[in-house]
Amino acid sequence: MPRTAINREKKILEYLQDHGNASIQDLVAVFDVSNMTIHRDLDKLEKAGYVQKKHGGAVLVEKTALTGRNICEMCRKPVADRTLFLVKLENGEEKRACCAHCGLMLHSREPNIWQSLTADYLRGHVVSSNQAVYVIGSELNICCVPSVLSFGVREDAEKFLRGFGGTMMTMEQAIQQLHGMMHALEA
Ligand SMILES: [Zn+2]
Ligand SMILES: [Zn+2]
Repeated sequence: MPRTAINREKKILEYLQDHGNASIQDLVAVFDVSNMTIHRDLDKLEKAGYVQKKHGGAVLVEKTALTGRNICEMCRKPVADRTLFLVKLENGEEKRACCAHCGLMLHSREPNIWQSLTADYLRGHVVSSNQAVYVIGSELNICCVPSVLSFGVREDAEKFLRGFGGTMMTMEQAIQQLHGMMHALEA
């Protein structure tokens, strides 16, 4: 498969993550390719289970993908949709974590990540985990402690912070913070 096709498929997925859904016309306009090409890309993505074609467009498969293997890769807790963290590897394997706490630990130990996604705690959809904002150590202990919740929009995280406390961090900072805490516990 030509490299450009793979890149485009990846970009289509990113586009769908940002927008939730897209019409064929949208994608044709955004990627400047033919109708046929978009259909072919979407067929491939659909076969791989990432998207669902409907109404002359495509939607991202989220909830339906959550039925199988719903155990956290790190702590073996069942995974709830609301706090899901998903790591997709380059070899097509998919690993799930119960919340951003385990998810960030998982993310930091996997070398060949293709894509990693986290559930926006407020809005319920998944967002790209390196663009998300994380609130660590709030009073809302939903899953693992210290609690880590992710938000796609900074304002949402700020609003949450005012109600429940905690510290707002980028993914990079959150991973460092968690590793620091783990070392402190081991010492
Ligand atoms: Zn876990
Ligand atoms: Zn957890």
